[in-house]
Amino acid sequence: MAATTKQLIDWDHRYIWHPFTQMEDWLRSDPVIIERGEANYLIDTEGNRYLDGVSSLWCNVHGHRKPELDQALREQSEKVAHSTMLGLGNVPATHLAKRLIDLAPDSVNRVFYSDAGATAVEIALKVALQYWSLRGEEQRTRFVSLTEAYHGDTLGAVGVGYSDAFHRFYRPVLRPSRQIRPPHYYRWLQGQSAEEALQSSIAHAEDVLEACGGVTAAIIVEPLMQGAAGMWAQPPGFLPAIQELARHHGTLLICDEVATGFGRTGEMFAVDHEGIRPDMMCLGKGITGGYLPLAATLISERIFERFLAPYDKFQAFFHGHTYTGNQLAAAVAVANLELFESERIVSRVQSRTERLRDLLAQHVEPLEHVGDIRQRGVMVGIELVRDREQRAPYDPAERMGARVIEEARRHGVIIRPLGNVIILMPPLSISESELDQLVRVTAAAIDKETF
Ligand SMILES: *Cc1c(COP(=O)(O)O)cnc(C)c1O
Repeated sequence: MAATTKQLIDWDHRYIWHPFTQMEDWLRSDPVIIERGEANYLIDTEGNRYLDGVSSLWCNVHGHRKPELDQALREQSEKVAHSTMLGLGNVPATHLAKRLIDLAPDSVNRVFYSDAGATAVEIALKVALQYWSLRGEEQRTRFVSLTEAYHGDTLGAVGVGYSDAFHRFYRPVLRPSRQIRPPHYYRWLQGQSAEEALQSSIAHAEDVLEACGGVTAAIIVEPLMQGAAGMWAQPPGFLPAIQELARHHGTLLICDEVATGFGRTGEMFAVDHEGIRPDMMCLGKGITGGYLPLAATLISERIFERFLAPYDKFQAFFHGHTYTGNQLAAAVAVANLELFESERIVSRVQSRTERLRDLLAQHVEPLEHVGDIRQRGVMVGIELVRDREQRAPYDPAERMGARVIEEARRHGVIIRPLGNVIILMPPLSISESELDQLVRVTAAAIDKETF
């Protein structure tokens, strides 16, 4: 079983196609191969330790090898790993559903499970379409979303998260949504103040809904922080305005909390900051503490009831995945939620948020090529620019983001860029001294590469 690192790299290069990766670059690199995890660190096959600065792509919550989660997994595996939810209930998925509904805003009451953020979004979109059709409003077939939104990589999700650079190849089969300009003023609405950007974004949303509100099945948004766009923060007031517009035009509001859910922004869910009451909510990533693939779409009772009908009307929601409600994943998710309570995770995030803000102000903000820092809770985007005054971006050919994260890795920190934006998204369990390490190494890497 034991293979040398060299052997593993050789097989990786020969047999694996990595996600979101230009494989021509990959094949020329010597990748790090992770073998173990220990709290907030990942350890490779050579024994090198790396701080997991992006929570293993935004999903890890309590660190790796968390004893309570390991134990929940072990105990469930001694009962059963998986049984189908088609025609059967199961114990952990039922407990989890009850807990999720207790935690979520009271506007949502039903849980539909799946196994990825993208599928949680697909389910929300399909439920919305079927709901309107069942209500006799077949004209409501369009979706409204934010420009540069990200909702996952399946075709329906790409339709509401369309970006020409990434998705032009699928354009012929997609039905892109109508897009609202987000209140992102650093790059998008340049020259405007935060308040002006907010007002112009809301005005644009009003125009879009005025034009197509009557044919819109749902508005879908990433609440508070548009993650994959490069951490575009939404100022207070934006979500309430979008909710108000959805109500006014009689359409549904879907909040995609796949990235923002489970404490990341300093509340359990991003919608909690302003008391938003969505009709549907998509959850994924942190739901199992970053252990196993599980996702959930939370749906209002009003929508759910519309699907109730005699069998032979064929109005059921004909959707499911083989691993829907997987018991191992659900058991770990329940243990994850118990930890949120017993370790008061959300209030810890609030104190880490302040610490992180101070560290960024001290070490990162003064750097000449840092144009903007956007933070909500422990989600951070650091935008690098060639010229601060002009907000001039680096040419993609310079691979500035990639160079910075490679330099950080040489100093024991794993982070990921989104273009020229460096993302920091540590596990919620990160300690103050690890936070210090994360920010100092990132600052030094930015300083060195942008010099
Ligand atoms: C990551 C993400 C998704 C997709 O989740 P997957 O599990 O990768 O399919 C959807 N929406 C948002 C906001 C995300 O950040």
